[in-house]
Amino acid sequence: MLRGQMMDRPLMISGLLTHAGTNHGSREIVSRLPETGAIHRYGWKDCLTRSQRLANVLEGPLKVHEGDRISTIAWNTHRHLELYYAISGAGAVIHTVNPRLDPKQIAWMLDHAKARHVFFDTTFAPLVDAIAKACKTVKNFIVMTDEAHAPQMSNVKPLIYEDLLAKASPDYDWPEFDENAAAGLCYTSGTTGDPKGALYSHRSTVLHALMACSMDTIGVGSRGVIMPVVPMFHVNAWGVPYAAAVAGSKLVMPGAQLDGKSLQELIEGEAVTHVLGVPTVWLGLLQYLRESGKRIDSVENVLMGGSAMPEALLRAYEGEYGVDMQQGWGMTEMSPLGTVGKLLPKHEGLSADEKIAIKLKQGRLVWGVEMRAVDDGGNVLPRDGKSSGHIQVRGPWIISSYFRGAGEEAFTDDGWFRTGDVGHLDEDGYMTITDRSKDVIKTGGEWISSIDLENAAMGHPDVAMAAAVGMPHPKWQERPLLVVQPKPNTSPTPDSIRAYLAERVPKWWLPDAVEFIEQMPLGATGKILKTRLREVYAGYAFETE
Ligand code: AMP
Repeated sequence: MLRGQMMDRPLMISGLLTHAGTNHGSREIVSRLPETGAIHRYGWKDCLTRSQRLANVLEGPLKVHEGDRISTIAWNTHRHLELYYAISGAGAVIHTVNPRLDPKQIAWMLDHAKARHVFFDTTFAPLVDAIAKACKTVKNFIVMTDEAHAPQMSNVKPLIYEDLLAKASPDYDWPEFDENAAAGLCYTSGTTGDPKGALYSHRSTVLHALMACSMDTIGVGSRGVIMPVVPMFHVNAWGVPYAAAVAGSKLVMPGAQLDGKSLQELIEGEAVTHVLGVPTVWLGLLQYLRESGKRIDSVENVLMGGSAMPEALLRAYEGEYGVDMQQGWGMTEMSPLGTVGKLLPKHEGLSADEKIAIKLKQGRLVWGVEMRAVDDGGNVLPRDGKSSGHIQVRGPWIISSYFRGAGEEAFTDDGWFRTGDVGHLDEDGYMTITDRSKDVIKTGGEWISSIDLENAAMGHPDVAMAAAVGMPHPKWQERPLLVVQPKPNTSPTPDSIRAYLAERVPKWWLPDAVEFIEQMPLGATGKILKTRLREVYAGYAFETE
């Protein structure tokens, strides 16, 4: 082999921050502080200096060593950003905890991760108090605020973030080491069984960040103002904290206030151009915009993912607010981005409805992710936009195994990761998810896509949320039950919903029953908890003739 004669410089996460701090130093990072709701602002240069102070805190008083897991239970703020960079940059591993999980599960996770220290926002003081005694590996709890706002706690005497930083030196030389070293740890939401850990490396994180910046993915640059509404505890806020540093963009962090009013204020006040989040967030914002008559005119681009983008939401934002909506698909195990739904030049002449049909697909493969759909026998299916199968992926930011074992069945013998999603690909690389493997409704030998059925139902004017679950049926094996959360002050009937659906889905997809629920159960990442619905409706008996 004739070797290339290029420098072998490691891809380090700290390099992203030093780039932003040195070359985009005055570009702002704006955060809504969880402890007061006040706005905090500083530049990437300040973020770099404070992250250096924090790295000194980690290596000094906190005695953090290479590879140690340091956990955070925190919102999107500048302090959480500093932790992202300082922990990984110093050679340790940042473990982001989803505070919406059950406290017992959180304690289990901290134990499984062998967390050495836990940083938390004041909002989560009661949670930390409740689990502290069960966290045997944790040496220190550090509250992410200053002396004046430190909470009174019963079982923990927390160290105070701002005190520690104030005493530390701002000078720090970021170490260089193997780019394959672990940098971040995020557990899957664990709706079935124990959560499993995805352990990201410096290399995977940097490569993912570069890809995320590209025009057809998030497409943010130094002029952009990006606001991740998706939390930093949900797969690294989809990589935005890293991508924003590569781009040198202004970063807006919404803290603990994710309601429509607070988000609209931030978007308007900070002239946000790019926003990312799960559909439930967009539903809340839309409701507020419609009630208040307020606008979000600075927004150019929205990336919605985590679950399927409802058509009604897409039409509302594009039609009423002039926002370009993109759907993305990915997973904790994929860092997370796998597909993003930008349109291609050849789509320019299409009608508005045809464009919407393309945007309702889960998106188009990003560079770096390879994908195939296979049938039950493992045969690769054609990319014809209709042959549905099990979606498998591989690439440099996709896990090759889970942290501390477990889940080996997720990997094929030839090196692909089984996503657990069912869907199809077309010749341009657009992927359509028809279901989670476990959510497909199997009826009389055919498959009904619960996602398509739900999306159709969500178009009904009185439906706020809808979930389709397969319930055992004596004749058909399974039939769909549609669970509906009506919009406030409406009372739709099962017949009106079935009549609405009858014009939009094949007749044999029509739900055998429609049940109404006041509040849809949502999981820790804002997705409908179908496992919970299956428990609630266990033993459901359809009326059969
Ligand atoms: P998580 O690891 O919590 O981000 O969950 C990943 C799973 O969320 C995927 O395997 C999909 O089942 C689902 N998901 C993510 N994005 C989408 C999307 N755009 N449409 C449908 N399902 C999605």
